[in-house]
Amino acid sequence: MIPITEFAGRDVAVFGLARTGLAAVRALTAGGARVHAWDDSEASRAKAEAAGIPVSDINNRDWRTFAALILSPGVPLTLPEPHRVVTLADAVGVPVLGDIELFARAVNALPAAQRPKLIGITGTNGKSTTSALVAHILKEAGKDVRLGGNIGEAVLDLAPLHAGAYYVIELSSFQLDLTQTLRLDVAVWLNTTPDHLDRHGDMPHYVASKRQVFANQGAADWAVIGVDDEYCASVCTELTRAAVQHVAPISAGQVLGRGVSALGPKIIDALNGRSETVADISNAPALSGRHNAQNAAAAYAATRALGVDPRIIASAFNTFPGLPHRLERVATVQGVRFVNDSKATNANATAQALAVYPRIYWIAGGVAKEGGIGDLAPFFARIARAYLIGQAAGDFSDTLRDKAPVTMAGTLEAAVRLAFDDARASGEPHPVVLLSPACASYDQFRSYEERGDKFKTYVSALTGGERNGARKSGSGA
Ligand code: ADP
Repeated sequence: MIPITEFAGRDVAVFGLARTGLAAVRALTAGGARVHAWDDSEASRAKAEAAGIPVSDINNRDWRTFAALILSPGVPLTLPEPHRVVTLADAVGVPVLGDIELFARAVNALPAAQRPKLIGITGTNGKSTTSALVAHILKEAGKDVRLGGNIGEAVLDLAPLHAGAYYVIELSSFQLDLTQTLRLDVAVWLNTTPDHLDRHGDMPHYVASKRQVFANQGAADWAVIGVDDEYCASVCTELTRAAVQHVAPISAGQVLGRGVSALGPKIIDALNGRSETVADISNAPALSGRHNAQNAAAAYAATRALGVDPRIIASAFNTFPGLPHRLERVATVQGVRFVNDSKATNANATAQALAVYPRIYWIAGGVAKEGGIGDLAPFFARIARAYLIGQAAGDFSDTLRDKAPVTMAGTLEAAVRLAFDDARASGEPHPVVLLSPACASYDQFRSYEERGDKFKTYVSALTGGERNGARKSGSGA
């Protein structure tokens, strides 16, 4: 844990008692603050108390006594409308901060010689994969690495700060909205597609949140930025023109004269303006697909910026185990391969998965994002049949009419069974049953993790638990 001493002897409100909120309470308490922890949900309060964290109702307090409000990134700061506690804090001028900001201030307070290296990663898709990949490469290079933030442990739960440590932090736009003074040695912004517009209002606001990842950087720091979408490309141009920090453009769509590109599976380093093929990810078990080439190019640029030898990076690509629920190979049952991509909660993420396999028995549906699956039209020819589940089934079926055969499966369990029967009966050499829902999960599941875990359970039930050719959870396609 990283104790936060900034508020020692003062009263601080913490609102939202999930993973990051609970970590903030512990870190602030350890640093000597008087913490007043609260959550609107009775279940969350009960869980906090069970974890030894006392709760106290902050609604009826004199808010002028608080030195800060620590807000969970899940709580609306501005849109659709500010949460009641934000309005209360604003009314009396109490600063509203996130857990990443507390971390940033603790790092900023260290003398330069004790400062660890900070690597932050954001983007609409690929944050977790790239964060895990960067951490893996740094470990392979023998560094003392901690990975957290929006992935795994909350940042304040990570091991204490010290010089020589590398903190790899996955950053969501909600976390960046609550962060003002973070200075990243290497900041990565992978890509931008419309997502979470309910919370960000419109693209300019979403882009402004993400852009915050480069704030406070100086001449020795690196901005790694994808240039395959118009939003990131224009920010890259601005950064290059301003020349405040080093800028490393990355692309999985074009060969860059300066930067890092992925040309098919080949990673080309032109950071110094001279092109050299430095890695080939065709045999990397967890990096298939063009999207993962983008993630690999970004991870290469980030770790090169930190001085890691290109040969270590190239070999680390091949030993990266991947993350569960992202193109995770679950099992091959009677010749049918099952792939769990439950983390694909929007059409853009699903597009990456559909691009990997030529013939797909596709399980999709849940709570659709704006725009549905219209953008997936270029891949409809690859769909042997779609098995639709959850709320979005009707709309998705309309979009697929006359383009791909559809079965209204209703539930994931039925979809797995039906897709298996059809794939097996097809006589095709390598049929793939892919769960890549292009939807949020909460109409039928608690989370995408639960949806992916259930998928794995239903797949293993097909063989009575026998997993033929299965890989361990954590591997990827
Ligand atoms: P995030 O943490 O940003 O949600 P993940 O690494 O967990 O990203 O991947 C989420 C989903 O997005 C996966 O299903 C994957 O197929 C897809 N994806 C991963 N990397 C990229 C990328 N660079 N571009 C587009 N989609 C991606």
